[in-house]
Amino acid sequence: MNSRPPIITLDGPAGSGKSTTAREVARRLGFRHLDSGALYRALTFALLTSGTPEEDWPELPRKDFDRFHIWLRPEGPRFEVLLGERVLTDELRTPEVTAKVSPLSALPAVREWLLDAQRQAGREGGLVADGRDMGTVVFPNAEVKIYLTADLRERAFRRFLERSGTEPSDAELTLEAGKIQERDERDSSRVFAPLKKAPGAIEVDTSFLSFEAQVQVIIDHVKSLTER
Ligand code: C5P
Repeated sequence: MNSRPPIITLDGPAGSGKSTTAREVARRLGFRHLDSGALYRALTFALLTSGTPEEDWPELPRKDFDRFHIWLRPEGPRFEVLLGERVLTDELRTPEVTAKVSPLSALPAVREWLLDAQRQAGREGGLVADGRDMGTVVFPNAEVKIYLTADLRERAFRRFLERSGTEPSDAELTLEAGKIQERDERDSSRVFAPLKKAPGAIEVDTSFLSFEAQVQVIIDHVKSLTER
């Protein structure tokens, strides 16, 4: 039996509600939440604003990213992502960052560079980490692994509503679903740390679950595995 509190990983495709669910699960358990996607987005943002030509990104050596000083700072129940002294928030969610983050994340130099910061965040346990490879690569020994899914159009609907505050028209829904599907295909088909269900993960399909129900399913699962 471990002496430190457990690590819970939540992986899954875009728009499956990983981050909001992970945040609430962490809050209820008194753990900290790590949104690993924010790190990949931060590096995308840094490269875009530094003016580094996109065609050069695949050739950049890992140590070249050190100049950006991207780091995680524990702040209450979460980790803030900083670029130097600047706390990054809304700039990580722009359409431009969202469009470029997936190809950047496929690069091994990028994944290796971000590995350490993520593992450091989990070194004392008591962490709910969400992303694409939390249970497979970053925390392969996590005590609890969840794979969160939902129907593509449902995920597109939620994403659109969250971003614009209004429900999408049919055409808007189709467009959003297309973007999400493209990102999922890239994330699932890459060679390094592809999106996939980790061995031993339980799959939770949230298509027909309320937010409260999906949080509860996960909490129940955590309790069944850790309170033996
Ligand atoms: O979770 P979010 O949508 O913010 O993630 C943005 C992108 O970052 C994903 O589409 C994926 O390409 C990348 N990512 C990743 N591995 C993670 C988290 C995110 O490759 N653990």
